[in-house]
Amino acid sequence: MKYIDLRSDTVTLPTKQMRDAIYNAQVGDDVYGEDPSINRLEEMAAQMLGKEAALFVTSGTQGNQICVMTHTQPGDEVILEEKSHIITYEVGGIGRLAGVQAKLIAGKHGIMDPADIEAAIRDEDIHLPKTSLICLENTHNRAGGTVIPLDILKSTYEIAKRHDIPVHMDGARIFNAATYLNIPVKEIAKHADSVMFCLSKGLCAPVGSVIVGTSDFIARARKFRKMLGGGMRQAGFLAAAGIVALEKMTSRLAEDHENARFLAQGLSEIPGITIDMDTVQTNIVICDISGLKMTAGEFAAKLYEKGIRVNGGSSPIVRFVTHYWIKREDVEATIEAVKSLL
Ligand SMILES: *Cc1c(COP(=O)(O)O)cnc(C)c1O
Repeated sequence: MKYIDLRSDTVTLPTKQMRDAIYNAQVGDDVYGEDPSINRLEEMAAQMLGKEAALFVTSGTQGNQICVMTHTQPGDEVILEEKSHIITYEVGGIGRLAGVQAKLIAGKHGIMDPADIEAAIRDEDIHLPKTSLICLENTHNRAGGTVIPLDILKSTYEIAKRHDIPVHMDGARIFNAATYLNIPVKEIAKHADSVMFCLSKGLCAPVGSVIVGTSDFIARARKFRKMLGGGMRQAGFLAAAGIVALEKMTSRLAEDHENARFLAQGLSEIPGITIDMDTVQTNIVICDISGLKMTAGEFAAKLYEKGIRVNGGSSPIVRFVTHYWIKREDVEATIEAVKSLL
Protein backbone atom coordinates (compact mmCIF):
# COMPACT_ATOMS: atom_id res chain seq x y z
CA MET A 1 0.00 0.00 0.00
CA LYS A 2 1.22 3.48 -0.84
CA TYR A 3 0.92 5.78 2.14
CA ILE A 4 0.54 9.54 2.13
CA ASP A 5 3.55 10.14 4.32
CA LEU A 6 3.38 13.44 6.18
CA ARG A 7 5.64 12.45 9.09
CA SER A 8 8.59 14.50 7.89
CA ASP A 9 10.34 15.79 4.78
CA THR A 10 13.16 13.39 5.68
CA VAL A 11 11.03 10.57 4.19
CA THR A 12 11.50 11.98 0.67
CA LEU A 13 12.94 9.44 -1.73
CA PRO A 14 15.43 10.55 -4.40
CA THR A 15 14.07 11.66 -7.77
CA LYS A 16 14.72 9.79 -11.04
CA GLN A 17 17.27 12.43 -11.98
CA MET A 18 19.09 11.87 -8.68
CA ARG A 19 19.16 8.10 -9.20
CA ASP A 20 20.66 8.62 -12.67
CA ALA A 21 23.21 11.09 -11.29
CA ILE A 22 24.19 8.63 -8.56
CA TYR A 23 24.65 5.83 -11.10
CA ASN A 24 26.84 7.96 -13.34
CA ALA A 25 28.77 9.85 -10.64
CA GLN A 26 32.50 10.48 -10.95
CA VAL A 27 34.06 9.53 -7.63
CA GLY A 28 37.39 9.42 -5.79
CA ASP A 29 38.71 9.29 -2.24
CA ASP A 30 37.24 12.29 -0.45
CA VAL A 31 39.52 11.97 2.59
CA TYR A 32 42.34 12.65 0.12
CA GLY A 33 40.23 15.51 -1.28
CA GLU A 34 39.98 13.62 -4.59
CA ASP A 35 36.28 13.11 -5.08
CA PRO A 36 35.26 15.40 -7.96
CA SER A 37 31.55 15.19 -7.16
CA ILE A 38 32.08 16.11 -3.51
CA ASN A 39 34.37 18.96 -4.53
CA ARG A 40 31.79 20.25 -6.97
CA LEU A 41 28.96 20.04 -4.42
CA GLU A 42 31.05 21.89 -1.83
CA GLU A 43 31.96 24.63 -4.30
CA MET A 44 28.33 25.04 -5.33
CA ALA A 45 27.14 25.17 -1.72
CA ALA A 46 29.76 27.74 -0.71
CA GLN A 47 28.86 29.89 -3.67
CA MET A 48 25.09 29.71 -3.12
CA LEU A 49 25.43 30.59 0.54
CA GLY A 50 28.03 33.30 -0.09
CA LYS A 51 30.77 31.71 2.04
CA GLU A 52 34.41 30.84 1.32
CA ALA A 53 34.14 27.10 1.82
CA ALA A 54 31.82 24.17 2.48
CA LEU A 55 32.03 20.64 3.86
CA PHE A 56 29.75 17.68 3.12
CA VAL A 57 28.72 15.93 6.35
CA THR A 58 26.80 12.75 7.03
CA SER A 59 23.78 14.39 8.65
CA GLY A 60 22.39 17.63 9.98
CA THR A 61 23.17 16.53 13.50
CA GLN A 62 26.80 15.83 12.63
CA GLY A 63 27.03 19.22 10.90
CA ASN A 64 25.66 21.12 13.89
CA GLN A 65 27.88 19.23 16.32
CA ILE A 66 30.98 19.85 14.22
CA CYS A 67 30.16 23.56 14.05
CA VAL A 68 29.70 23.83 17.82
CA MET A 69 32.98 21.94 18.36
CA THR A 70 34.81 24.19 15.90
CA HIS A 71 33.55 27.48 17.35
CA THR A 72 34.04 26.66 21.05
CA GLN A 73 36.38 25.33 23.74
CA PRO A 74 35.26 22.88 26.46
CA GLY A 75 33.80 24.81 29.40
CA ASP A 76 32.38 27.58 27.24
CA GLU A 77 28.72 28.52 27.09
CA VAL A 78 26.49 28.53 24.02
CA ILE A 79 23.28 30.54 23.65
CA LEU A 80 20.42 28.52 22.14
CA GLU A 81 16.66 28.79 21.78
CA GLU A 82 15.05 26.49 24.35
CA LYS A 83 13.18 24.31 21.85
CA SER A 84 15.96 24.21 19.29
CA HIS A 85 16.93 21.00 17.50
CA ILE A 86 20.49 21.19 18.86
CA ILE A 87 19.30 21.13 22.46
CA THR A 88 16.30 18.79 21.97
CA TYR A 89 17.12 16.21 19.34
CA GLU A 90 20.90 15.80 19.24
CA VAL A 91 21.26 13.38 22.13
CA GLY A 92 22.98 15.89 24.40
CA GLY A 93 25.84 16.04 21.92
CA ILE A 94 27.06 19.53 22.67
CA GLY A 95 27.71 18.52 26.29
CA ARG A 96 29.35 15.25 25.41
CA LEU A 97 31.23 16.17 22.25
CA ALA A 98 31.99 19.88 22.51
CA GLY A 99 32.01 19.90 26.33
CA VAL A 100 30.03 23.14 26.44
CA GLN A 101 27.03 24.15 28.49
CA ALA A 102 23.85 25.68 27.16
CA LYS A 103 22.25 29.00 28.05
CA LEU A 104 18.65 28.62 26.89
CA ILE A 105 16.39 31.46 25.85
CA ALA A 106 12.65 31.11 25.23
CA GLY A 107 11.74 32.40 21.80
CA LYS A 108 8.40 33.50 20.40
CA HIS A 109 7.55 31.03 17.63
CA GLY A 110 11.14 29.85 18.08
CA ILE A 111 12.60 33.28 17.46
CA MET A 112 14.74 34.79 20.21
CA ASP A 113 14.46 38.49 20.96
CA PRO A 114 17.89 40.07 20.21
CA ALA A 115 17.65 41.97 23.51
CA ASP A 116 17.32 38.65 25.38
CA ILE A 117 20.35 37.33 23.53
CA GLU A 118 22.41 40.37 24.46
CA ALA A 119 21.32 40.10 28.11
CA ALA A 120 22.40 36.43 28.15
CA ILE A 121 25.97 37.17 27.08
CA ARG A 122 28.29 36.68 30.07
CA ASP A 123 30.41 39.48 31.44
CA GLU A 124 34.14 39.13 31.82
CA ASP A 125 34.48 37.70 35.34
CA ILE A 126 36.65 34.98 36.85
CA HIS A 127 33.57 33.04 37.98
CA LEU A 128 31.73 32.97 34.70
CA PRO A 129 31.92 30.75 31.62
CA LYS A 130 32.80 32.40 28.36
CA THR A 131 29.89 32.91 25.95
CA SER A 132 31.50 31.69 22.78
CA LEU A 133 28.65 30.98 20.37
CA ILE A 134 25.08 31.98 19.52
CA CYS A 135 22.99 29.37 17.67
CA LEU A 136 19.91 30.26 15.61
CA GLU A 137 17.47 27.86 13.95
CA ASN A 138 15.95 28.91 10.62
CA THR A 139 13.35 27.64 9.88
CA HIS A 140 12.50 26.57 13.42
CA ASN A 141 11.40 22.96 13.47
CA ARG A 142 9.45 22.61 16.73
CA ALA A 143 7.86 26.04 16.35
CA GLY A 144 6.33 24.82 13.09
CA GLY A 145 8.73 25.89 10.36
CA THR A 146 8.79 29.56 11.32
CA VAL A 147 11.19 31.93 9.59
CA ILE A 148 13.42 34.45 11.39
CA PRO A 149 12.56 37.93 10.02
CA LEU A 150 15.53 39.61 8.33
CA ASP A 151 15.60 42.63 10.67
CA ILE A 152 15.85 40.32 13.71
CA LEU A 153 18.59 38.33 12.01
CA LYS A 154 20.46 41.53 11.25
CA SER A 155 20.27 42.97 14.76
CA THR A 156 21.21 39.62 16.29
CA TYR A 157 24.31 39.51 14.12
CA GLU A 158 25.22 43.10 14.99
CA ILE A 159 25.01 42.27 18.71
CA ALA A 160 27.15 39.17 18.16
CA LYS A 161 29.79 41.16 16.28
CA ARG A 162 29.83 43.88 18.94
CA HIS A 163 30.62 41.19 21.52
CA ASP A 164 32.96 39.32 19.18
CA ILE A 165 30.88 36.12 19.37
CA PRO A 166 30.28 33.95 16.28
CA VAL A 167 26.80 32.98 15.12
CA HIS A 168 25.97 29.47 13.90
CA MET A 169 22.74 28.96 12.00
CA ASP A 170 21.04 25.57 12.07
CA GLY A 171 19.57 26.09 8.63
CA ALA A 172 18.41 22.51 8.08
CA ARG A 173 15.56 24.11 6.09
CA ILE A 174 17.23 27.41 5.15
CA PHE A 175 16.01 27.06 1.55
CA ASN A 176 12.43 27.01 2.87
CA ALA A 177 13.21 30.23 4.75
CA ALA A 178 14.66 31.82 1.60
CA THR A 179 11.59 30.74 -0.38
CA TYR A 180 9.27 32.27 2.22
CA LEU A 181 11.21 35.56 2.22
CA ASN A 182 11.61 35.39 -1.56
CA ILE A 183 15.32 36.24 -1.41
CA PRO A 184 18.53 34.40 -2.36
CA VAL A 185 19.68 32.12 0.45
CA LYS A 186 22.96 34.05 0.78
CA GLU A 187 20.98 37.07 2.01
CA ILE A 188 20.08 34.97 5.05
CA ALA A 189 23.45 33.26 5.41
CA LYS A 190 25.32 36.57 5.51
CA HIS A 191 23.98 37.10 9.04
CA ALA A 192 25.79 34.02 10.34
CA ASP A 193 29.42 32.86 10.47
CA SER A 194 28.56 29.23 9.84
CA VAL A 195 25.44 27.57 8.45
CA MET A 196 24.38 23.93 8.32
CA PHE A 197 21.72 22.92 5.81
CA CYS A 198 20.20 19.53 4.93
CA LEU A 199 20.15 18.01 1.46
CA SER A 200 18.13 15.09 2.77
CA LYS A 201 14.90 16.88 3.72
CA GLY A 202 12.74 18.91 1.35
CA LEU A 203 15.53 18.86 -1.23
CA CYS A 204 15.01 15.07 -1.61
CA ALA A 205 18.62 13.87 -1.61
CA PRO A 206 19.01 10.48 0.08
CA VAL A 207 21.80 11.36 2.53
CA GLY A 208 23.77 14.29 3.79
CA SER A 209 24.05 17.88 4.90
CA VAL A 210 26.53 20.67 4.25
CA ILE A 211 28.23 23.19 6.52
CA VAL A 212 29.62 26.47 5.22
CA GLY A 213 31.92 29.15 6.65
CA THR A 214 35.35 30.69 6.15
CA SER A 215 38.13 28.53 4.66
CA ASP A 216 39.89 28.47 8.01
CA PHE A 217 36.71 27.41 9.81
CA ILE A 218 36.03 24.62 7.33
CA ALA A 219 39.64 23.38 7.52
CA ARG A 220 39.28 23.00 11.30
CA ALA A 221 35.78 21.52 10.93
CA ARG A 222 37.16 18.89 8.54
CA LYS A 223 39.31 17.50 11.34
CA PHE A 224 36.34 17.22 13.68
CA ARG A 225 34.39 15.47 10.94
CA LYS A 226 37.20 12.91 10.68
CA MET A 227 37.20 12.52 14.48
CA LEU A 228 33.47 11.78 14.45
CA GLY A 229 33.88 9.15 11.76
CA GLY A 230 32.47 11.30 8.99
CA GLY A 231 35.48 11.06 6.67
CA MET A 232 33.89 9.02 3.89
CA ARG A 233 35.68 7.74 0.81
CA GLN A 234 33.77 7.56 -2.52
CA ALA A 235 31.08 9.81 -1.11
CA GLY A 236 30.57 11.36 -4.54
CA PHE A 237 27.66 8.98 -5.08
CA LEU A 238 25.88 10.94 -2.36
CA ALA A 239 27.15 14.31 -3.57
CA ALA A 240 25.82 13.58 -7.06
CA ALA A 241 22.28 13.56 -5.65
CA GLY A 242 23.13 16.63 -3.57
CA ILE A 243 24.12 18.52 -6.71
CA VAL A 244 20.75 17.75 -8.30
CA ALA A 245 19.13 18.86 -5.02
CA LEU A 246 20.82 22.27 -5.24
CA GLU A 247 20.23 22.67 -8.96
CA LYS A 248 16.63 21.48 -9.21
CA MET A 249 14.96 21.27 -5.84
CA THR A 250 15.67 24.60 -4.12
CA SER A 251 13.44 26.59 -6.47
CA ARG A 252 10.26 24.50 -6.12
CA LEU A 253 9.66 24.69 -2.37
CA ALA A 254 6.87 27.27 -2.69
CA GLU A 255 4.66 24.39 -3.85
CA ASP A 256 5.20 22.59 -0.53
CA HIS A 257 4.42 25.80 1.35
CA GLU A 258 1.16 26.27 -0.58
CA ASN A 259 0.18 22.69 0.20
CA ALA A 260 0.97 23.20 3.90
CA ARG A 261 -1.15 26.35 3.97
CA PHE A 262 -4.02 24.55 2.21
CA LEU A 263 -3.77 21.65 4.66
CA ALA A 264 -3.68 23.99 7.66
CA GLN A 265 -6.71 25.91 6.44
CA GLY A 266 -8.70 22.72 5.86
CA LEU A 267 -7.75 21.17 9.20
CA SER A 268 -8.37 24.36 11.19
CA GLU A 269 -12.01 24.31 10.06
CA ILE A 270 -12.51 20.95 11.74
CA PRO A 271 -14.02 21.28 15.24
CA GLY A 272 -11.57 20.16 17.93
CA ILE A 273 -8.45 21.07 15.96
CA THR A 274 -6.60 24.32 16.64
CA ILE A 275 -3.82 25.70 14.48
CA ASP A 276 -1.96 28.97 14.97
CA MET A 277 -2.05 30.07 11.33
CA ASP A 278 0.66 32.70 11.98
CA THR A 279 3.16 29.88 12.32
CA VAL A 280 2.21 28.19 9.04
CA GLN A 281 4.86 29.89 6.94
CA THR A 282 6.70 27.05 5.23
CA ASN A 283 6.15 23.28 4.97
CA ILE A 284 5.22 22.37 8.55
CA VAL A 285 1.76 22.37 10.15
CA ILE A 286 1.47 21.94 13.92
CA CYS A 287 -2.04 21.03 15.13
CA ASP A 288 -3.36 20.96 18.65
CA ILE A 289 -5.93 18.15 18.69
CA SER A 290 -6.88 18.49 22.40
CA GLY A 291 -10.51 19.07 21.35
CA LEU A 292 -10.66 15.62 19.70
CA LYS A 293 -10.13 13.89 23.07
CA MET A 294 -7.37 11.65 21.82
CA THR A 295 -3.59 11.67 21.93
CA ALA A 296 -1.45 12.26 18.87
CA GLY A 297 -0.60 8.56 19.00
CA GLU A 298 -4.25 7.50 18.82
CA PHE A 299 -4.88 10.07 16.08
CA ALA A 300 -1.90 8.78 14.11
CA ALA A 301 -3.05 5.16 14.47
CA LYS A 302 -6.50 6.04 13.12
CA LEU A 303 -5.06 7.93 10.16
CA TYR A 304 -2.67 5.08 9.45
CA GLU A 305 -5.67 2.80 8.83
CA LYS A 306 -6.72 5.28 6.16
CA GLY A 307 -3.34 5.24 4.45
CA ILE A 308 -1.93 8.42 5.98
CA ARG A 309 1.16 8.59 8.14
CA VAL A 310 1.87 11.23 10.79
CA ASN A 311 4.01 11.04 13.91
CA GLY A 312 2.16 10.30 17.11
CA GLY A 313 3.08 10.61 20.76
CA SER A 314 1.49 11.04 24.16
CA SER A 315 0.89 14.78 23.66
CA PRO A 316 -2.06 16.34 21.84
CA ILE A 317 0.28 17.91 19.26
CA VAL A 318 0.40 16.49 15.73
CA ARG A 319 2.86 17.65 13.10
CA PHE A 320 2.28 17.38 9.35
CA VAL A 321 5.13 18.07 6.93
CA THR A 322 4.61 18.60 3.19
CA HIS A 323 7.28 17.80 0.61
CA TYR A 324 8.02 16.92 -3.02
CA TRP A 325 6.10 13.64 -2.96
CA ILE A 326 2.94 15.17 -1.49
CA LYS A 327 0.61 16.52 -4.16
CA ARG A 328 -2.51 18.65 -3.77
CA GLU A 329 -4.81 15.63 -4.03
CA ASP A 330 -2.92 13.97 -1.15
CA VAL A 331 -3.58 17.05 0.97
CA GLU A 332 -7.26 17.00 0.05
CA ALA A 333 -7.45 13.28 0.88
CA THR A 334 -5.80 13.99 4.24
CA ILE A 335 -8.34 16.66 5.18
CA GLU A 336 -11.19 14.31 4.23
CA ALA A 337 -9.63 11.46 6.22
CA VAL A 338 -9.35 13.62 9.35
CA LYS A 339 -12.98 14.75 8.95
CA SER A 340 -14.06 11.12 8.70
CA LEU A 341 -12.49 10.37 12.12
CA LEU A 342 -15.08 12.51 13.88
C1 LIG B 1 16.41 17.60 10.77
C2 LIG B 1 17.06 18.69 11.51
C3 LIG B 1 18.39 18.61 11.90
C4 LIG B 1 19.24 17.34 11.83
O1 LIG B 1 19.21 16.63 10.73
P1 LIG B 1 19.56 15.05 10.65
O2 LIG B 1 20.09 14.94 9.29
O3 LIG B 1 18.26 14.36 10.88
O4 LIG B 1 20.57 14.75 11.69
C5 LIG B 1 18.96 19.70 12.51
N1 LIG B 1 18.24 20.80 12.73
C6 LIG B 1 16.95 20.93 12.37
C7 LIG B 1 16.24 22.21 12.64
C8 LIG B 1 16.32 19.88 11.75
O5 LIG B 1 15.03 19.99 11.43
